[in-house]
Amino acid sequence: MTQITQISAASAEKFSQQILSWYDKQGRKHFPWQQNKTPYRVWISEIMLQQTQVTTVIPYYQRFMASFPTIIDLANADEDTVLHHWTGLGYYARARNLHKTAKIIRDKYQGEFPENIEDVIALAGIGRSTAGAILSLALKKHHPILDGNVKRVLSRFYTIDGYNGQSKFEKALWPIAEQLTPVKGVEKYNQAMMDIGATVCTRTKPLCEQCPIQKNCFAFAGNVQANYPQKKPKKTTPVKSTIMVIARLENKVLMEKRPPAGIWGGLWCFFEVDDHSEIAPLLATKQLTISQTTLLESFRHTFSHFHLDITPVLVDCQQSLSKEIHDVKQQKWYDLTTEASVGLAASTSKLIEQVQQQPIY
Ligand code: SF4
Repeated sequence: MTQITQISAASAEKFSQQILSWYDKQGRKHFPWQQNKTPYRVWISEIMLQQTQVTTVIPYYQRFMASFPTIIDLANADEDTVLHHWTGLGYYARARNLHKTAKIIRDKYQGEFPENIEDVIALAGIGRSTAGAILSLALKKHHPILDGNVKRVLSRFYTIDGYNGQSKFEKALWPIAEQLTPVKGVEKYNQAMMDIGATVCTRTKPLCEQCPIQKNCFAFAGNVQANYPQKKPKKTTPVKSTIMVIARLENKVLMEKRPPAGIWGGLWCFFEVDDHSEIAPLLATKQLTISQTTLLESFRHTFSHFHLDITPVLVDCQQSLSKEIHDVKQQKWYDLTTEASVGLAASTSKLIEQVQQQPIY
């Protein structure tokens, strides 16, 4: 492992110049969040881009900004509307944190995004690298960044051992990022480092022949690019299982809103039971009796920490009381013939598609 403690000013200058001249020719400058840059616009893009590909993010970003053009618009929106704009992007804690943080900025900072990095890091869902990206890209403030792409470039360039998520790896890389990041052109340099990681120093088969820093790259010199960053030691992912009960009455299906914390927090999902024998008693509590049960196709949904095997059961129901069907708090009769206007978990959307193909009994 290479130990890097001090980088000379001349080496840092040379590195950043190579990166900046690459940016002028090849950097990505046309994404929607790169136009009319403000901390708010950059913040939303940075959060959407965590764990999600650029091409997927673009339409989500455009819809989000059209609905919530300012922090105040986002803060004043209700949670269901915000989550609805996130349906399909996954990692819903990101959307809940955005909403929570927008309210804090509205109430504590009069709707103006804070410009002090410590204040930004204190906000929900924003770590040091994201804070650095927001303040440098939008306001040209001198802060380094260290997202997954930058970690890959730096760990290869200096052959730094470790893997993403490991604290000793981050501790080794932050001082390097700090020393290399220039004051002048910081916004271009940070963007270029992310771009090089995404398009040149890619996870597999890096395009070293197109890389502006190839000449001094240790990994290239030793042909050991594939060893950096190292792979995270594998843990076996636990498998859980659940039965999802889709109670249907005419064209409507019954859903519940999940509690704010935990998986699918704040999203609308179907009811879950552990055993088929629990279905009838569950529906009885909602004044429903079963007229027909259909087992739908099972599937696996993978979360970051476990797999969930889902067995969906479509239950066509009758009402046992002569009451109109109605919504109660945290429960909703979702109309299968209209567009969703609330946040649905990805598995819920998938199940709705299956249910729409089933005849009604
Ligand atoms: S030379 Fe290759 S391995 Fe080194 S930083 Fe450039 S793309 Fe990455």
